Amino acid sequence: MMLFLLFLLAFQTNNGISYSSHGFYKTSYFSQKPYQKYKWATVPKIRVCQNTEVALSRVQRAVDYWERLGYEFDEVYLDRFSYCMNPKDNEIAIVLPEQGIVDDKMAATRIDTSKITGEIIKAKIYILPRSGRKERVLEHEIGHALGWQHYNRKNHIMHPNWWLGGHSSYGLQKM
Ligand SMILES: [Zn+2]
Repeated sequence: MMLFLLFLLAFQTNNGISYSSHGFYKTSYFSQKPYQKYKWATVPKIRVCQNTEVALSRVQRAVDYWERLGYEFDEVYLDRFSYCMNPKDNEIAIVLPEQGIVDDKMAATRIDTSKITGEIIKAKIYILPRSGRKERVLEHEIGHALGWQHYNRKNHIMHPNWWLGGHSSYGLQKM
């Protein structure tokens, strides 16, 4: 598996959809501080699709990471429906990848923003069972779901390359 090639693919279309993914292109920019491109207007719920095999306790640990930084979340709940796919408004849904979204990458996150306010309305984290169990992957993707972009500082949670990343939350404190 080429899981170590984790580079940024972030593009935005004019209909308010933004993807953060890994595995295609490397964007070589370096900023002094991590950049939160989008913010939520509301406090999101997290819906975990059972078919991802991601345990609620695992998601809760990732939520705790961000709560310690000042972010708020509504309930985290399990969806047992086999066609568990699209987030409702005010939700982050953790779902199995659609064909072609993740491939050999660990995970990807899509956020939908309001055309009017630019704020995040809903987000979708695509993840395979093996990535859901992997250290730091959920924390990283929830970071994208909160609007954070990649940050190329060694040991940082938002580092695009999993092997160079770590648990550092430098610059991520909620303002
Ligand atoms: Zn990423």
